[in-house]
Amino acid sequence: MPLSPDQQAEVDALRDTPQSTLRATVPGIEQHLYKPHDVLDHGFVRVIDYMGDDSAICQAARVSYGKGTKSVQNDEGLIRYLMRHWHSTPFEMCEIKLHVKLPVFVARQWIRHRTANVNEYSARYSILDREFYIPAPDHLNAQSVVNNQGRGALLEGEEAARVLDILKADSNRAYDHYEQMISDDGQSGLARELARMNLPANIYTQWYWKVDLHNLFHFLRLRADAHAQYEIRVYADAIAKVVADWVPAAYGAFEDYRMGGAQLSAKGLDCVRRMLKGEQVTQETSGMSKGEWREFEGVIG
Ligand SMILES: Cc1cc2nc3c(=O)[nH]c(=O)nc-3n(C[C@H](O)[C@H](O)[C@H](O)COP(=O)(O)OP(=O)(O)OC[C@H]3O[C@@H](n4cnc5c(N)ncnc54)[C@H](O)[C@@H]3O)c2cc1C
Repeated sequence: MPLSPDQQAEVDALRDTPQSTLRATVPGIEQHLYKPHDVLDHGFVRVIDYMGDDSAICQAARVSYGKGTKSVQNDEGLIRYLMRHWHSTPFEMCEIKLHVKLPVFVARQWIRHRTANVNEYSARYSILDREFYIPAPDHLNAQSVVNNQGRGALLEGEEAARVLDILKADSNRAYDHYEQMISDDGQSGLARELARMNLPANIYTQWYWKVDLHNLFHFLRLRADAHAQYEIRVYADAIAKVVADWVPAAYGAFEDYRMGGAQLSAKGLDCVRRMLKGEQVTQETSGMSKGEWREFEGVIG
C-alpha cells in the first residue's frame, strides 16, 4: 500500500468534503479524484484536479456561449471529426493534474514529454524514502535478441534469483550509505543535495504533472504502446483508464484513430491499392525498405 495512514486520512478528508460549483463536472472522473491507483510495487497515479469534459471540446470548437452541446450524438460526431482531421486545439481546452509516484528511471523517460507542467519532490530539501522498484519475477526478462531496445524471454531459476538478490542488496546498501552520510549524529552530516547522488535509478520520486488533453493523448499514444518500456506503460495504462471515464467520447475517438488506427505512407497506400486490384506485391516491388515492409505487413495483417 503506497499511502501511509496519515496520507490516506488526508485523501479521505478531501473526498468527504464535496463542493458545489457552476463548473462542468464529470461523475466518471469524480470517482477517481484524489484516490491513488497503485502502479508497480510502490508507485501510484492519482487525479488531483481536472478541467473540462467532452462538451468543453465542442464548446471550444464551436466557440459557443453555452455548453456547446447540440446533442450527445452530434458532439461525438464533431469530436471524431476533430480527431480525424488533427484539429487539436479544442482538445487543449481540457486539462488534468495528476500526482504520480514513480521510479527515477521511469521519470527520466516521462520528463521527455515537454508539453506538461511539472513540480517534483525535492531531494535537496527532503529525505527520500527507502523505496526501490524491484521487478516482479514475471517482468524480469533477458535482453531481446531481435530488438536492442527491448526484452526477450523471462529469466528463470538461479539467474532470476541472483538478479533479484543483487537489485535488493545494491538498493539497500546505497540507502544505508545515504542515511550514514546525511546523519548529523556525531558529525556534520552531508547535504541532502549531495548525499542523494549515490542512490540508484530505481528509487522512487514523486511529482505533480499537469497536461492538456491533446498532449496527454500524445503521451498515451507513445507510452501506452507496445513499444514503450513496461514500467512506463503501466502508468500510461492506468492514466488511460481514468481518461476513458473523464472524456468518454474523446477517448473513444483517440482509441479508434490513434491507438487502434495506423498511418500509411504514400508508398504503403499505393501498395494497398495495387493489392486491391489483385496484384501480388512483395517487398522488392513495393519500393519500401525491409523495415518499412515489415511494419506495413504488421499494419495490414
Ligand atoms: C518507444 C520510445 C523509444 C524512445 N527512445 C529514445 C531514445 O533512445 N533516446 C532518446 O533520447 N529519446 C527516446 N525517446 C523519447 C522520444 O524521442 C521523445 O523525446 C518523447 O517521446 C517525447 O515526445 P515529444 O517530443 O513528441 O513530446 P513533447 O515534448 O510532449 O512534445 C509534443 C510535441 O510538441 C512539439 N514540440 C515540443 N517541444 C518542441 C521543441 N522544443 N521544438 C519543436 N517542437 C516541439 C513536437 O511536435 C512534439 O512532438 C523514445 C520514446 C519512445 C516512445
